[in-house]
Order: sequence, then C-alpha cells, then structure tokens
Amino acid sequence: MAKLTFVGGIHPYDGKDLSKDKPIADLLPKGELVYPLSQHIGAPATPVVAKGDRVLAGQKIAESSGFISAPVYASVSGTVKAIEDRRVVTGDMVKSIIIENDGIYEDVGFYPEMPLEKMEKEDIIHCIKEAGIVGMGGAGFPTYVKLSPKEPDRIEYVIANCAECEPYLTSDYRRMLEEPEKLISGLKIILRLFDKAQGILAVEDNKPDCIKLLKQLTANETRITVKALKTKYPQGAERQLIFATTGRKISSANLPADVGCIVNNVDTIVAVYRAVMEGKPLMERIITVTGDAVMNPRNFRVKIGTNYQELLEAAGGFKGTPEKIICGGPMMGFAMFDLNVPTTKISTALLAFTKDQVAEMEPSACINCGKCMEACPSRIMPGMLAEYAAHGMEEEFIKNYGMECVECGCCSFACPAKRHLTQQIKSMRKTLLAKRKK
Ligand code: SF4
Ligand code: SF4
Repeated sequence: MAKLTFVGGIHPYDGKDLSKDKPIADLLPKGELVYPLSQHIGAPATPVVAKGDRVLAGQKIAESSGFISAPVYASVSGTVKAIEDRRVVTGDMVKSIIIENDGIYEDVGFYPEMPLEKMEKEDIIHCIKEAGIVGMGGAGFPTYVKLSPKEPDRIEYVIANCAECEPYLTSDYRRMLEEPEKLISGLKIILRLFDKAQGILAVEDNKPDCIKLLKQLTANETRITVKALKTKYPQGAERQLIFATTGRKISSANLPADVGCIVNNVDTIVAVYRAVMEGKPLMERIITVTGDAVMNPRNFRVKIGTNYQELLEAAGGFKGTPEKIICGGPMMGFAMFDLNVPTTKISTALLAFTKDQVAEMEPSACINCGKCMEACPSRIMPGMLAEYAAHGMEEEFIKNYGMECVECGCCSFACPAKRHLTQQIKSMRKTLLAKRKK
C-alpha cells in the first residue's frame, strides 16, 4: 500500500520563501543564443542549418540522430553565426549552434498537427518526438521513448512529479499555481496513451495551495487523483516517488514501466500539452534564479539557449560576493565556475550563496554514528561505500549495492564528520557506468 512517503531522507532548510511568491516573468534574451547539440541523454542532434542561414523561432535547427536522441529548435529569430564547440554548464566543450538574435522574435507560425480527438496514439507519440521533448527535471531522457514502453497495457499509473523537493526551487510551484490547466490537460494527453492507467498528481504537502487548486480542477476527472506527499527530501526522486504513491519498489535494474508506472515532471507534461495542443516545439522553460547572494530572486520563463549571465542580470545581479554558484538544486545540482554558458532543456535553476557551507567544513574521521545509513533513501551503507570508492574497490562497491545510490546527497548532509560521501560514491558510479557502456 502507498505510504505517501519513503524510508530515510532528510529535512534541509527549504529556502523557497525567497522566490515562491514571485510570478513567472518572461525574459527576452539580448545577446547570442547557444544551442548545444547534446542537451539530452543519447546521440547528439545533427545540424540542419548552416552558418549564415536566417532562422525563425520554432524552426528545427538540428534533427534527432538516433532512437535515443532529440531534435533542437531555435527559440528566437536571427542568423546562424557559427556551429562550433562551446563550453556548457558541466565545463565540457560541446558542439553547438550559435544564433545571433535579431530581437524580432518572428516565429514559424504554430498550429497543432491535428485536433486531439482525431489523434491516434502513434500521432501523439510522433508529435512529442518531433517537438524535441526530453525529461526537463534534469534527466534529459527523450520523453517519446519513455512514453513507448514495450507493454503499454501494463501501465497502471502515470505519475506527474509535482514534488519539487529540492530546496530553493520554485519553478514547478509557480507553474502549478499559474498554469494548472495545462498541467492537467498534459496529463490527460499522456493518459490517452495508456488505456488502463490512472493519473496521479503527486505534490509535497508543503504546497497546500497547489494541492487545493489541483483537487478543485480535477474534482470531475475520473482518471486523475491528487496525492499529498509528506515533505521530505528526496521525495521527487523517481524511485521514492513511485514507492510513496503506489507502494511499488524498483531498483537500478528496473525501469518504472516494469512496475506499471510512468513518471514525468511538471515542465515536461506542460511541454507535451504545448506540443500536442498548440503545435509548439520545446523552446522555453521555467528557471528559478535565487539564493541569498541574488538581489531579486525570481522565476523566469526563459528561451532555451539564453546565457546564464543574462538570467542573473535580470534578477538584479549579485547582492554581496557569492561564494558558491550552483546550476540546479543545492542537493543534486553542481557548482558553476562561469556564468557565460547557455541554459538548456534541462536547466532548472541558478542559485548563488554568500557562504559555501560545504567548503567551510573540513572532513574528519568517521565516528560510526550511522546517521548516513539512517538518511539514505536507497537503504545502502554510504560510509562503507565511500571507503570502497576512495580505494578503488570496484567489486566490493558493486557487491554492496553501490549502484543503487540515487546520488541524492542525503548522506553527506547527515554526516556530522562532513565526509564527502556522495562525491566519492558518485565518482565511483560514474567510472563503473562508463565501463558498462564499453
Ligand atoms: S548513498 Fe547515495 S542514495 Fe544513499 S544517501 Fe548517499 S547519495 Fe543518497
Ligand atoms: S554519518 Fe559520517 S560519521 Fe556517521 S557513520 Fe556515516 S560516514 Fe561515519
């Protein structure tokens, strides 16, 4: 039976007050836009434009180059300035299309492929694929693949991940309050693909206004329920969310579809709505810019490809000297050293803090307190796994379920000795996953 929570987890300060009451504001980019060809899991997209071409907003500029891949669309009108390697948020250089924005925002004209009532399941899948939609919660997995499981009749739950459990992030919260109809309609479109499934809008109970609104709007929907989940990090992690809402368990060896579930986050579901109902490809997303080092924390509707520096400027710049800048949430995001990099389909937030609490603490020896184990939602032994990782003991790491780590950061947060547990486990997982791919 669903427990509406999971075992383990932590309760960090959520910092959401800084931006939760700031309505979504449209941000129009000023400078050039950069579109990395790899902003999803899978094969990089292939450019279909050349230097000097004029493009319109909504025009395909790179096409999908494999089963696991996704096309890329221009989010502004302008001229292709270059196709070259550019630095992205991870620090890597990635082949990208650079467009000089002409400031006109002329678009291709958007029309739905056909009325929804006339669409067969394949038409919906095709539309989602063509729109370049990928998991916008950070995973970047092509959504059309996720929505095409081998046995669609075995899907019993389509879960809308409305948890937004990462501290400081408020983009999903604003989306739920400002555009709940699009979220619900998007979920209904996905439900058309799975005849036997029920839809669940899964929201943490620290968002009572969203829960109330979504309940009101779905009161007459026989296939959709709203579930209030206990507020605890990482409630929005896929495995924890599935367990909390359905009571079903998956490991790293399974996909959610293996236990009859499909999970999509809020922005992804709204992107599905826009693709099917409005004929719009994925060109924009909501990004939270916040933290105590940001002058005016805000939520922006951003044209994908916009420079992070422009986001910061639109939020009034820095207040004080930032010690740490993070792309994504404070628990699972990563440190940024250069703001001159583009936003992508999977950018969720830009955070800036005056204090780097992690760097401030010197790690010390383990005191065997067991707090890391208590906090771990994957029920593994972080302290021991970090030791194995530090000594390159791959076999022991695998044997003791190191690959079940979801990289949530709870162990590091809970550890009184401030050991870099997540970092060490994460780096060992990365090595082992790379070996598996070979
Ligand atoms: S070991 Fe992995 S899953 Fe467990 S708390 Fe640490 S980061 Fe999270
Ligand atoms: S929480 Fe830190 S100190 Fe406590 S057992 Fe785990 S690694 Fe050791």
